[in-house]
Amino acid sequence: MWAVAAGEAERIGFVHEMALCRGVVQILEEQAAAHAYSRVKIVRLEIGPLAAIEPEAMRFCFEAAARGTLAENAKLEIVTPAASAWCFSCGETVTISERNGVCPNCGSYHVQPAGGDELRITELEVD
Ligand SMILES: [Zn+2]
Repeated sequence: MWAVAAGEAERIGFVHEMALCRGVVQILEEQAAAHAYSRVKIVRLEIGPLAAIEPEAMRFCFEAAARGTLAENAKLEIVTPAASAWCFSCGETVTISERNGVCPNCGSYHVQPAGGDELRITELEVD
């Protein structure tokens, strides 16, 4: 079931993830030209917990986006760090784990996430 074309991934609703994966593959190809490697073996991605990206959907789409490129069959490793937010009730910065999260100190929903919605390539293993 993983052997679908990129268009298929979009049809089943992973439009956002597909676009992100195409962007990742594009960066890998640019980096390959700059750093003279021909194959990507492992891609480590850091996805903010507030990015609303499903890791499983990313793996699915990455495989489709990488097909026929230097990243074909590369392993995608996804790390999701905790996000910080400002709690208006506590008046301090707290760590939350999801969008619309609650303050772990006081249980308040009145928190303002600070970042946590970014996607970054943190590490590559290449040949
Ligand atoms: Zn609080």
